[in-house]
Amino acid sequence: MAGPADTPQSIEFLEPSTLLIEWGDGHESLYSHRLLRERCECAACIDEWTRAPILDPSTLPADIHVQTVERTGRYGLNLHFSDGHRTGIYAFRTLRGLCPCGECAPEKEISP
Ligand SMILES: [Zn+2]
Ligand SMILES: [Zn+2]
Repeated sequence: MAGPADTPQSIEFLEPSTLLIEWGDGHESLYSHRLLRERCECAACIDEWTRAPILDPSTLPADIHVQTVERTGRYGLNLHFSDGHRTGIYAFRTLRGLCPCGECAPEKEISP
């Protein structure tokens, strides 16, 4: 049964540090845990007012990975990372927009 494109059907861990989300429309997205950590939009990682990044990705441990995935209602996921960071809420819509596959992110023009 097909569901909406911005709601996950299943969420799986793939070793060593990849998260697989299968969406309601059958699309599959593979995210590296590091990408997800770098894209965290919580108040500790992105300035709420200026939207300027606070997190410096070079300070993340090389082996950063997701330890726990919790659903936050119907809205998104709360990811707990191995560096102790667990305040990031990832809306399903945002996650779908981050899909790095060739179909969702064809060599789009890099903005200057
Ligand atoms: Zn964060
Ligand atoms: Zn995709």
